[in-house]
Amino acid sequence: MDFLVLFLFYLALVLIGVVTICICSKTHYLRGLVRGGAQVISHIIPECLQRAMRKVLHYLFHTRNHTFIMLHLLLQGLVYAEYTWEVFGYCQELGFSLHYLLLPYLLLVINLVFFTLSCVSNPGTITKANEFSLLQVYEFDEVMFPKNMKCFTCNVRKPARSKHCRVCNRCVHRFDHHCVWVNNCIGAWNARYFLIYLLTLTASAATMAVVSTVFLVQLVVVSDLYLETYVDDLGHLQVIDIVFLIQYLFLTLPRIVFMLGFVVMLSFLLGGYLCFTLYLAATNQTTNEWYRGDRAWCHHCPHVARPPSAEPQVYRNIHSHGLWSNLGEIFLPAAAHCAEKMN
Ligand SMILES: [Zn+2]
Ligand SMILES: [Zn+2]
Repeated sequence: MDFLVLFLFYLALVLIGVVTICICSKTHYLRGLVRGGAQVISHIIPECLQRAMRKVLHYLFHTRNHTFIMLHLLLQGLVYAEYTWEVFGYCQELGFSLHYLLLPYLLLVINLVFFTLSCVSNPGTITKANEFSLLQVYEFDEVMFPKNMKCFTCNVRKPARSKHCRVCNRCVHRFDHHCVWVNNCIGAWNARYFLIYLLTLTASAATMAVVSTVFLVQLVVVSDLYLETYVDDLGHLQVIDIVFLIQYLFLTLPRIVFMLGFVVMLSFLLGGYLCFTLYLAATNQTTNEWYRGDRAWCHHCPHVARPPSAEPQVYRNIHSHGLWSNLGEIFLPAAAHCAEKMN
């Protein structure tokens, strides 16, 4: 009982934490919270340790590195190893359909292809050669993306919807975000790969969660476990309930139950993020635009010149032209081909 309560409490805490961060990130609360948290930590942790932590965090999140790619592959490898080693064999013994059991592998292959494409593809780097053609792609809204802005680091004029990525040190066309998991920017030319990567990753986690759950339920049914009784701490004979059953399964098949807990949590987190990404794709917004939407003038890159006459205005999405057109823009990015040819 104690273990299950603690596990559910932990799961709820993680999910609430993620949802809170998502809600707060749209407001100023998150920055306040982070600043407050950092102040509290600075009083507790010694200065040398803080410096080391700052260096590690800077390396992880502000430089291009392969740490999260390795972590991603390691976690994926561990989950698939456990699935192959235990779940697959047991399920075959219980007479599961082979098509059903092979689905996670098919999703893995597709996922790895699109993961690689997301990692290595050009997200839409703006160069002197393609600057002119990319300037024609999107209309300037004069609020978030005014005309005649220049990036002095890249020495290019900034097309509408572009942004300078400080991690990659380049300006990216239709900049969405910099993703540490693929160690690359997500922009106009690789948003389609990233979307399919995210879709197949969520699907593989959800498929594994379903297969493992069905396997455990089958196991309980086949072995008539639910009809058994046990003696409790007070010496009374009790009929097995769901809580006892889960604990029993955890003790007898710890790796499978642990993996199930992990893929269930992952399915919820990735599912939530996938819904958000699909919402952005359907409404033709980038994460950058969604994030800066209600404070259009507040987050300009210091390297970028701001027209002196500009005054704060309310940002309005002018790029949405209906669901299919918006999705088409993700999968067939405008001017990608002609700009690629010019490179
Ligand atoms: Zn730039
Ligand atoms: Zn980047």
